[in-house]
Amino acid sequence: MFEFTHSWPVDFLHGDLFFHDCPFCGSPSILVPAEHEKMQLAKEGFKTHVVMPCCHEKLTILSMDDDYIWADRPLRKG
Ligand SMILES: [Zn+2]
Repeated sequence: MFEFTHSWPVDFLHGDLFFHDCPFCGSPSILVPAEHEKMQLAKEGFKTHVVMPCCHEKLTILSMDDDYIWADRPLRKG
C-alpha cells in the first residue's frame, strides 16, 4: 500500500520529528516540532500535516512508524 518512493527516514528527538535532511530543499538536520497526539494518530494511519521549518513546504503524512514517514507524494525518485 505504501510505496518506497513516498517514504522518508525520520527519527524522534524528545518527541519531535527529526529529519537528517529535508526531502524538499535538502537542508541538513531539521527538527520539526510535533505534537505527541498528532504523531500518535499518524502512527495509527491518520493523515497529518507538518510544515518544514527550513523551506515552509507542507508535508502531508499519511502514515509513519518509528523509522519512516509516508507522504502523499513521492519524496524520492524511484
Ligand atoms: Zn526544507
